[in-house]
Amino acid sequence: MLERLVLFRQHPFPVLVMGVHRCTWCEPGVEKPGRMRKRSRFDFGNHGCDNLFIPGPDGRDFIAPELILHVIIAHQDAPPSEFLDAVMHGPDPGSSDFLARLERHAPTR
Ligand SMILES: [Zn+2]
Repeated sequence: MLERLVLFRQHPFPVLVMGVHRCTWCEPGVEKPGRMRKRSRFDFGNHGCDNLFIPGPDGRDFIAPELILHVIIAHQDAPPSEFLDAVMHGPDPGSSDFLARLERHAPTR
């Protein structure tokens, strides 16, 4: 599951970045913003600015802050089963099905 989430991280939801998300569960000052210390090959630090787009197999789409990887690993939190099902059984990140689903959320004039 973590391997697939990292793949989704490589195809973030394309929005204007409005700032950095910081983990509210970590103690303040544990990790300084701007220094993306990698704790494991799945944890990219306790702050980030991208969102993951996860299209589910049942047509529902999920968007999650990239911090979800940190929260799962560092804080042993489990996302809802619907989200995990989308990660494991939805279209592959970057595939034509993935891009078609992503396009449904593109702004229109
Ligand atoms: Zn944290």
